[in-house]
Amino acid sequence: MSEHDHSAPLPDVELRVRALEAVLKEKGLVDEATLDTVIDHYENKVGPHIGAQVVARAWTDPDFKARLLADGSATIAEIGHAGLEGTHMAVKENTAQVHNLVVCTLCSCYPWSTLGLPPTWYKSAPYRARAVRDPRGLLEDFGVKLDDDVEVRVWDSTAEQRYLVLPARPDGTDGMSVDELSELVTRDAMIGTGIVAPPA
Ligand code: FE
Repeated sequence: MSEHDHSAPLPDVELRVRALEAVLKEKGLVDEATLDTVIDHYENKVGPHIGAQVVARAWTDPDFKARLLADGSATIAEIGHAGLEGTHMAVKENTAQVHNLVVCTLCSCYPWSTLGLPPTWYKSAPYRARAVRDPRGLLEDFGVKLDDDVEVRVWDSTAEQRYLVLPARPDGTDGMSVDELSELVTRDAMIGTGIVAPPA
């Protein structure tokens, strides 16, 4: 992955954010405490551990999994993790025949409510372009080597439609609890740039 151009944020982004924050506060549109709550929410409360719980539950509960694949938003909300209003979440299952990969070719739309803040590379131009042009090559750079007969499906996220990958449950996990299984599930596996490894 080191050959990726992990484009760094613009040098003036922080200044712009501070300027916007100052204006919003001055106009009384937001207050400090509300901002802190929102930032804390996305930095500390929402993260890949939520998606991992969803995945582990789907691995152990066939009814939940069926509902999850049929209606991601409603089923994730069932276990107390509603997304942003107006944002639909679709869950795409990896199988022996199909590997799913999530991207936002236009900008950086990402399933925040289940994965938290996106990794820098997700927003980079090379990732966004290559996910469409050469998804297999991209996956190989991430260490995911697929058999030739596995179809790669690329899902392009939008402001209204987000995607979460349901990775395959690894071997050697029979009898593990939902919490134990969720420890195995990585953020990248839920974006599709990784697979879930069997327990060590
Ligand atoms: Fe986007």
